[in-house]
Amino acid sequence: MQRDEQTFSIIRKELERQRRGLELIASENFTSLQVMQAMGNVMTNKYAEGYPGHRYYGGCEMVDQSEQLAIDRAKQIFGVEYVNVQPHSGAQANASVMMAVLKPGDKILGLDLSMGGHLTHGSPVNFSGKLYEPHFYGVSKETGLIEYDKMEEVAMQVHPKLIVCGASAYSRDWDYKRIREIADKTGALIMADIAHPAGLIAKGLLNSPFEYCHFVTTTTHKTLRGPRGGMIMIGKDFENPFGIKTPKGDIRMMSSVIDLAVFPGVQGGPLEHVIAAKAVSFFEILSDEYDQYAKQIVKNAQSMSKAFVEKGYQIVSGGTDNHLMLIDLRNKNITGKKAEQVLVKADITVNKNMVPFDDKSAFVTSGIRVGVPAVTTRGLTEEHMLQIVEWIDTLLMDPDNEQKIITVRSAVNQFMEQFPLYPELG
Ligand SMILES: *Cc1c(COP(=O)(O)O)cnc(C)c1O
Repeated sequence: MQRDEQTFSIIRKELERQRRGLELIASENFTSLQVMQAMGNVMTNKYAEGYPGHRYYGGCEMVDQSEQLAIDRAKQIFGVEYVNVQPHSGAQANASVMMAVLKPGDKILGLDLSMGGHLTHGSPVNFSGKLYEPHFYGVSKETGLIEYDKMEEVAMQVHPKLIVCGASAYSRDWDYKRIREIADKTGALIMADIAHPAGLIAKGLLNSPFEYCHFVTTTTHKTLRGPRGGMIMIGKDFENPFGIKTPKGDIRMMSSVIDLAVFPGVQGGPLEHVIAAKAVSFFEILSDEYDQYAKQIVKNAQSMSKAFVEKGYQIVSGGTDNHLMLIDLRNKNITGKKAEQVLVKADITVNKNMVPFDDKSAFVTSGIRVGVPAVTTRGLTEEHMLQIVEWIDTLLMDPDNEQKIITVRSAVNQFMEQFPLYPELG
């Protein structure tokens, strides 16, 4: 077969783009070379519907081993009883839990998308808002913090079957104990979606949801720094309280109900090459090196948020406990859209983001979301964060000055040469 030079040349250019830029998208990271190697190999050829030891296809001896390794390592990392590593993404993980515990039309209660929530937490354009009846809580206009009182008030009113906590653009920790009190009072189950801060939770740097939340979902490619994918966990397996019957007509523990919701409920054959890469990334997370990495993420985020505040930027909630911050640009006279555009021109990648009580649309927005997991992987430390904020401020204060854009871009490109990315790839 002739080599597809066209596609490989595009991939090569993507490598060069990643190498020369400052990656500040809070949901992105750079996997290790061995994680990528585990993804790009013969495992992609294998069909393995079912679970280790119980497959609908022959020849699963090897993929059984790597999937079991991924499961065992994830259990060890988070100290949990049950893990399903098959969800193709975070969205599929959430769809599976909802599929397991809800019927169409059931009520769910999640964080409003415009306040930092995720599409899969009940947005009307997503399956979660179409199949189920969504209700929302938000953050306080004054403090930017989750309003647990409001969560309780809505829960008492509508009696949701599922409360969803977790966010895509919220820089503070969560009070899972309080959420459990609300859930117990109103008869709800809880799904904690830790897609963003999972790596910090893994290392004990943030509150753990497992004692209080019935189901915990995550992506594996954000702070966890693994391949693109999802995962579902249960801290302590509990008896199926829903009378949900399995295909065999019996009622079992929640773990088996979740397994059946992932496959055959939501997905077909698992991506065994990605699951092998998940196993490799979990191996890395169990190392001291990753320990240091997680701690450095927090140090870098603290340093960056302090530098922004010193320059008069308004960070929603005033700071951060995790790896990201949401910056409200309304006092700086620039929209999120314009800010994203000017920064991208200088090879600094962020995303525009709505801020709580935003008066602009999701396409324009009043804010940007900035995260440090990817630059921390590159090797940047606290003092480098000050330089990044300096560059960002220079551009946002004078966004139409093409000369400044060119100057900052070449400074960024030169700076990033000190932090080689995948040198093995030439
Ligand atoms: C990123 C994210 C997801 C979805 O992950 P995908 O892998 O993109 O489907 C789900 N929930 C939250 C809170 C997220 O931040």
